[in-house]
Amino acid sequence: MAETETFAFQAEINQLLSLIINTFYSNKEIFLRELISNSSDALDKIRFDSLTDKSKLDAQPELFIHIIPDKANNSLTIIDSGIGMTKSDLVNNLGTIARSGTKEFMEAVTAGADVSMIGQFGVGFYSSYLVADKVVVTSKHNDDEQYVWESQAGGSFTVTRDTSGENLGRGTKITLFLKEDQLEYLEERRLKDLIKKHSEFISYPISLWIEKTTEKEISDDEDEDVEDKKDEEGNVEDVDDEKDKEEKKKKKIKEISHEWSLVNKQKPIWMRKPEEITKEEYGAFYKSLTNDWEEHLAVKHFSVEGQLEFKAVLFVPKRAPFDLFDTKKKQNNIKLYVRRVFIMDNCEELMPEYLSFVKGIVDSEDLPLNISREMLQQNKILKVIRKNLVKKCIELFFEIAENKEDYDKFYEAFSKNLKLGIHEDSQNKTKIAELLRYHSTKSGDELTSLKDYVTRMKEGQSDIYYITGESKKAVENSPFLEKLKKKGYEVLYMVDAIDEYAVGQLKEFEGKKLVSATKEGLKIDETEDEKKKSEESKEKFEGLCKVIKDVLGDRVEKVVVSDRVVDSPCCLVTGEYGWSANMERIMKAQALRDNSMAGYMSSKKTMEINPENPIMDELRKRADADKNDKSVKDLVLLLFETALLTSGFSLDDPNTFGSRIHRMLKLGLSIDEDSGDADSDMPPLEDAAEEGSKMEEVD
Ligand code: ADP
Repeated sequence: MAETETFAFQAEINQLLSLIINTFYSNKEIFLRELISNSSDALDKIRFDSLTDKSKLDAQPELFIHIIPDKANNSLTIIDSGIGMTKSDLVNNLGTIARSGTKEFMEAVTAGADVSMIGQFGVGFYSSYLVADKVVVTSKHNDDEQYVWESQAGGSFTVTRDTSGENLGRGTKITLFLKEDQLEYLEERRLKDLIKKHSEFISYPISLWIEKTTEKEISDDEDEDVEDKKDEEGNVEDVDDEKDKEEKKKKKIKEISHEWSLVNKQKPIWMRKPEEITKEEYGAFYKSLTNDWEEHLAVKHFSVEGQLEFKAVLFVPKRAPFDLFDTKKKQNNIKLYVRRVFIMDNCEELMPEYLSFVKGIVDSEDLPLNISREMLQQNKILKVIRKNLVKKCIELFFEIAENKEDYDKFYEAFSKNLKLGIHEDSQNKTKIAELLRYHSTKSGDELTSLKDYVTRMKEGQSDIYYITGESKKAVENSPFLEKLKKKGYEVLYMVDAIDEYAVGQLKEFEGKKLVSATKEGLKIDETEDEKKKSEESKEKFEGLCKVIKDVLGDRVEKVVVSDRVVDSPCCLVTGEYGWSANMERIMKAQALRDNSMAGYMSSKKTMEINPENPIMDELRKRADADKNDKSVKDLVLLLFETALLTSGFSLDDPNTFGSRIHRMLKLGLSIDEDSGDADSDMPPLEDAAEEGSKMEEVD
């Protein structure tokens, strides 16, 4: 006797099982789709292995999925001749190692998501327990003996070497002992419908073990044989006993036999003509391809002929997957076929990363069947296919954009991918840029495209203005926009972290430069009058600029008179080619791996002061009167720190800033500063404290 080992389910899997068993859920039928999909994956794996080593198929040359309902035992069995599982595969894959999706799936279901989503989270096997109270998995992998996994949930499972004598050759047999109220899954009609509905596009033959009744006329002498048979099998029934008496010689009987019935007879959808395929058929194909429970948002089915031939079907889902930007996990996106033979899932070489959300299949006429992953990397044919796929994807996005509602959905789910595309795909970035949408100072609740922005540009406006920041709210009232708004120039709000990268690559659109409102180099057209006035201000404020620079030292690169602020006293701009305040925030949040970069790239700040602002004017007067005025120093520091905040930077030392504000509050409330606990580094606002009236002006 082989030894039986008992294993505890990993804690999260255990929770998952209780959830599956205890959640009231009527759409239990999806379990079959999940198991068939697992079988299909296992068959894909062995077929792929066999392309380079034919002998891998020796133990069982046929590739198939068999489904056997057994009414006598209330069990449903699914057998595949796929790759099978070794003992350790059984232990690890079916119970002790939780997938990242386990927890996510439970959270999703608890939040009201549908259980039929299970396949997307990589835990489809456990859906068996929707209909079964006991599951037995027998599996034979080429590298191991045949083992039996068994569990009634309840915290543990067992694994035993199979000594029953039954030999699978290679593959996996899953037997579900159905719950009493789930016996509908033994009915032929129900099973056939289910397979048609959910698994029609599985590319291996799925056969159902069906009962066949044939009527047979027999003479009396044959009758005895039948009686014998009846004893042996018990499946021959007498019919028409009445007639029997009349026609003594002839007898009609019903004979019951079993046979395999092939359920999925369709030829692959991509081999059919697009105009003959209904939306429902594409939807069904998409679902079977992706395990998605919803239909696709858009599809593109096309073939390329000429020097190179292939067919492809590409789908855009309605939502982003839960792990879209999980860099550890490469997305399963495009399935590669060669002349109808499945080669591999997840063919990375076929799609750039930013299009990883596009799902589909490619069937090439030109690639060799025994292509290996290593060969794929340099393969020229593949490069050409990839180029075509990218082009078609972008075409498809433009098609989606023709319908606003669809595009809103698409953009919400995948705008980050488009922006990544601008960063990654220099060849197509101009095209992709047309797909971008932003809120702006003039767009209200709607989003605007760059194209529409350009049509609204004011006469004499030569650049496209944008501001980056953490959120729409954070940038809407930014001091950087004051002058631009006043002049009636539209400014785009770029509030996605990835916008910083995208806009850095894009640089221009339709020949118009993209100019940041928070960086140096912002030139706003001025009238002769304005020019003259600003020349005068520059001269007038030269002294103050010097004083401020002396006070701030290394904290700023330089201090200049501003063209862009209208109301605020000052702002801090960054170099045209360095990081913006927003970028600095993003980099800090990413806990930059390489600190040397931080020093090199981090924002060189220029303080711009507003000559029209009364605070600045007052400061100028004080500084002109006495270069060493102590109140000027303290006020400059306070202005600088406030400008850091309003310009989107963070404070290195919020406590000092806090004390400065508190001191101002005391002044405002005419509370005497206790000179005893004054910070030595920060002279109290002595002069001002003595002359409270003066401070009020500054306030
Ligand atoms: P998923 O199939 O999404 O990876 P499942 O929970 O359905 O997640 O299955 C877990 C793992 O068990 C699979 O990844 C696979 O390694 C293994 N497995 C399940 N069913 C089969 C099968 N029929 N043949 C071979 N391996 C299987």
